[in-house]
Amino acid sequence: MNNVKNAQVAIVTGASRGIGAAIARRLASDGFAVVVNYTASAQEAEALVAGLKSEGAAAIAVRADVSNADDVRRLFDAAEQQLGKVDVLVNNAGILKTAPLADISDALYAQSFDINVRGTFNTLREAATRMNSGGRIVNFSSTTLVLNMPGYAIYNATKAAVESFTHVFAKELRGRNITVNAVAPGPVATSLFLDGKTDEQVQNFAKMAPLQRLGQPDDIASVVAFLAGPDGAWINGQVLRANGGVA
Ligand code: NAP
Repeated sequence: MNNVKNAQVAIVTGASRGIGAAIARRLASDGFAVVVNYTASAQEAEALVAGLKSEGAAAIAVRADVSNADDVRRLFDAAEQQLGKVDVLVNNAGILKTAPLADISDALYAQSFDINVRGTFNTLREAATRMNSGGRIVNFSSTTLVLNMPGYAIYNATKAAVESFTHVFAKELRGRNITVNAVAPGPVATSLFLDGKTDEQVQNFAKMAPLQRLGQPDDIASVVAFLAGPDGAWINGQVLRANGGVA
C-alpha cells in the first residue's frame, strides 16, 4: 500500500499506548514511515511496529526517555539512519498526576515538568536543525488548561508551557516552511485519563461535552493527521482544542 522507500518520516513520542499508538497507526496508513517511541512499554511498541509492518508500512520502535536530551538525540539518529530525515514530529508523550497544589511533592513537580515540558523542549531543539523543509510539528496540550479544575495546577502549568513553546517556535522557524501547532484534547479514554477514577467520575467527564461521550484515541489521531497532512498546510502557531465541545 505505501511506497515505503519514498515515505515521509514521522516521529511519534509516547506511541506504545493510548493516543500515541492511534497516531502511529493513522500516520502509517496515511503513508508515513513511523518511529514508535516509548520508554517502558517495549512489548507494546514492538507489537505495534510488527502490526504496521505486516500492513506494508515502514516502522521502527525506539526506546528514548524524552526528558533526557541524549536519548532524544539518539531518537533522531535512529530515525535518520533507519528511515530518513524527519518530516513530522508529534510530541505526544506525557504524564498526568493530579493532586492539590499543597500536596505536590518536589519529586512529582520535577517528574511532571521533566516529561511534559523538558521532553517537548528536547525534541523541539533537535527538530530545529534536523527536520526537512515542509515539516510539521504537533505538540500536545490539554483542554484541562482552560477548565482550571482543582488538582490540575501542575499538569496545567506544564501544558501552558507547551502552548507557549508552540506559539514562539512557530515564529522562530520563519523561512523553514515548518508548521508548529498543538492539539489540546478533552478527556480521552486511555489509561492516563481512566486510571484512578471511579465509574461515576468517568461518566461525569463523559457528560461534560455536548457530544456526550469521551474522546477516543482515533478522534485525536484524525486531528494530528490533518495537521500533518496536505490539508493542514496553512494552520500554524495554533492550539486546536479537540474535545467534543467541552470548552
Ligand atoms: P497514556 O495512555 O498514558 O500513554 C502515554 C504514552 O507516553 C505512553 O506511550 C508512554 O510510554 C509515553 N511516555 C510517558 N513518559 C515518557 C517518557 N519520559 N519518554 C517517552 N515516552 C513516554 O497517555 P495518553 O492519554 O495517550 O496521552 C497522550 C498525550 O495526550 C499526553 O501528552 C497527554 O497529556 C495528552 N492528553 C491526554 C488526555 C486524555 O484524556 N487521555 C487529555 C488531554 C491531553 P510507555 O508506555 O513506554 O511508558
